[in-house]
Amino acid sequence: GDHRIDREVNSVCPFCGVGCQLTFKIRDDKILFADGRNGPANEERLCIKGRFGFDYIHNPDRLTVPLIRKEGVAKADVANLDPANPYTHFREASWEEALDVAANGLKKVRDTKGGNALAGFGSAKGSNEEAYLFQKLVRTGFGTNNVDHCTRLCHASSVAALLETVGSGAVSAPFNEAENADVIMVIGSNPTVNHPVAATFFKNAAKKGAKLIIVDPRGQALSRHATYMLQEKPGTDVALLNSIMHVIVADGLTDETYIKEHTENFNALCAHLKDFSPEAMEAVTGIDPAIIREVAHVFAKAKAAIIFWGMGISQHVHGTDNSRCLISLSLMTGQVGRPGTGLHPLRGQNNVQGASDVALIPMFLPDYQSVEDPVIREKFEKFWGASLDPKKGLTVVEITEAIHKGEINAMYIMGENPAMSDPNVNHAREALSMLDHLVVQDLFLTETAAYADVVLPASAWPEKDGTVTNTNRQVQMGRAAVPMPGEARQDLWIIQEIARRLGLNWNYSHPKDVFAEMTQAMHSIRGISWDRLEAEDAVIYPCESPGDPGQPLIFTKDFPTANGLGKFVPASLISPDEIPDAEFPVVLTTGRLLEHWHTGSMTRRSQVLDAVEPEPIVHMPPVMIEELGAKAGDLVTVRSRRGEIDIRVRADGAVQNGMIFIPFCYAEAAVNLLTNDALDPFGKIAEVKFCAVNVERK
Ligand code: SF4
Repeated sequence: GDHRIDREVNSVCPFCGVGCQLTFKIRDDKILFADGRNGPANEERLCIKGRFGFDYIHNPDRLTVPLIRKEGVAKADVANLDPANPYTHFREASWEEALDVAANGLKKVRDTKGGNALAGFGSAKGSNEEAYLFQKLVRTGFGTNNVDHCTRLCHASSVAALLETVGSGAVSAPFNEAENADVIMVIGSNPTVNHPVAATFFKNAAKKGAKLIIVDPRGQALSRHATYMLQEKPGTDVALLNSIMHVIVADGLTDETYIKEHTENFNALCAHLKDFSPEAMEAVTGIDPAIIREVAHVFAKAKAAIIFWGMGISQHVHGTDNSRCLISLSLMTGQVGRPGTGLHPLRGQNNVQGASDVALIPMFLPDYQSVEDPVIREKFEKFWGASLDPKKGLTVVEITEAIHKGEINAMYIMGENPAMSDPNVNHAREALSMLDHLVVQDLFLTETAAYADVVLPASAWPEKDGTVTNTNRQVQMGRAAVPMPGEARQDLWIIQEIARRLGLNWNYSHPKDVFAEMTQAMHSIRGISWDRLEAEDAVIYPCESPGDPGQPLIFTKDFPTANGLGKFVPASLISPDEIPDAEFPVVLTTGRLLEHWHTGSMTRRSQVLDAVEPEPIVHMPPVMIEELGAKAGDLVTVRSRRGEIDIRVRADGAVQNGMIFIPFCYAEAAVNLLTNDALDPFGKIAEVKFCAVNVERK
């Protein structure tokens, strides 16, 4: 054995949606590192975060005692809060007192103003069991459907389009199917950074001869392996995809049999596509029509073509339209339902798929069953023994608006950091400070926790048992590896204690009790049991009976829509909400770094990761740096209509002229002070991938 360690525990990586299985290597109850296991998604591979990104859980900043805001300390005063020394704002409390204060504040608002004056944000970083219980608490204890999580800022628009057209929001095939494809399209996604292990499958497929088509205005490392790299103008995906489809229709490359047997509304789409020739769209997209024609032919003639997309598609005011186009492209060429084909929106968070499946979203009950359908609602009212609000709830950004209007007065936030992650973050922070009562449950005193009345110290992923569901629909088993620090508690226990104080008679003694209830509520996972996961570590859904191996490929025969057909929905051109002008001439886009996870609350507390990327940087094309009279390493001010930040310049030749990129993980230069909170009308997702800014030398 390895002399550096004294124990090993098998679990799953807590960072991205790839869901790599790993083994924690532990000495003296500390995780030193992890090794990859032969999970279905990762086949023994891990990226740098999965290997070294765990010392955040042992960081001295971990919350270890419940905290209550001191009397007389204003919430607006959070700017002066030092997370390492919270005692200027908070005092320590016993669990009993903290839970009472937390629950009483929620109860008071519920009983005086009604359930819809409350809202909850759950987390895509916790387990399925935690997400399920959290939404059940909000629905049956608060009495509202105002429950949401970061999926709203992630793939809400993709899911809206998928449900509308093919009846299911999940991926149609695991990303590993790239190995069986001869054409792979990666659009609005930078997998080398965001889904590093998935990217290795794409790269290997390309090396073995698959044609890789990358569409990305920012440019990326995977383009080295690409047959086609389309660096379109930002925000022009609908024009680009419609022009590809225009060529496919005009050149008679559609799959007539597939269209006839499996789809509807194709004629409407054809009529719509007439105006979108690649020549007509060239001025919009900036892409040579000859290349568009080639790409259209390559995609349509593929034996098996698969499409992967990410936030570059979803985080736009036309995010739903972008996805509608990708789905149409796939349907018209019959590139779905067979090995090597399909539609795969790469899910970002480790458990954003699972949290959405168990209904941590305002419009659905578990398994995407509408809250507004009286038959379904009655079924759940019986199942949960509580009456449910018949109206769908508000989404993340709508909740911020409702707080500003005085319609929502209290919130419970578990493991999310809207004070960093929401677009137009000044507006979101102002909302948090306006709440009568805010309960935050987290590992650290996050930017959001600073606004709380009560802060509850929670458990990190390697400290608990639970299941998570990755981007491939694989439900996987996570296991507690190390003890919690101080008086930190299991999230499941905390949720249940709040629930009891709100009058719910809950008695779950282990995550497996919750999982058992989930399998009763959710047809998709009916055949998966806790014991089975203990033995197999991962089972893919849909999985309908105990012996069912689960279905990696769906839509093989028909679609889960009312008539079994997939539907073409035409998309028109809508420009981004905020167009660059003389005052704000530059397009700002945002995203992650390989080393840092989202708002940085975990990875910036991991020594190895923070050492590689220690400070905020703006990626700028060299020609823009020169025009500024600056050089790499200089400090600049980036300003939008909503805020400004100071940040150092990094030269990045991949980024196209007129555009800059800033990662959103740095609190000291929070890019969401700048981003636009304009919403896609269908998915209610904000346009964080496009806003207008200016850049000045400091
Ligand atoms: Fe973890 Fe994702 Fe990296 Fe795998 S690819 S090790 S799941 S962060």
